[in-house]
Amino acid sequence: MRLTREFTFEAAHHLTKLPGGPESVHGHTWRLHVTLDGPVRPDGMVFDFVKLADLVKSKVLSKLDHADLNRVVPNPSAERVALWVWKQLKGLPLLAEVQVWECEGCSVTYRGEPERERV
Ligand SMILES: [Zn+2]
Repeated sequence: MRLTREFTFEAAHHLTKLPGGPESVHGHTWRLHVTLDGPVRPDGMVFDFVKLADLVKSKVLSKLDHADLNRVVPNPSAERVALWVWKQLKGLPLLAEVQVWECEGCSVTYRGEPERERV
């Protein structure tokens, strides 16, 4: 079964490698979905939602919320933020997918594909 918890964080960023030169700094309310995939345990859960929230808060949101993402992730596109989030959560058992929404209607999804980590 797949279990997803949604988070939001407020952060500024600007892309630095656009053909026309760097973007201006701007902010978004970013949305993050963290999905785990595993069996339903005898206690009825795949994973404890509260425990998942604590882990994501300490490993990810503590560094991204109300931050300038350029200080954390170089050239922080949604794609690069998703890769960064995946790396922070890599040790999490059952981690299946990280989805990052830069704004309404615009998201990227990363499932740990090794060949796609080269950026
Ligand atoms: Zn943006």
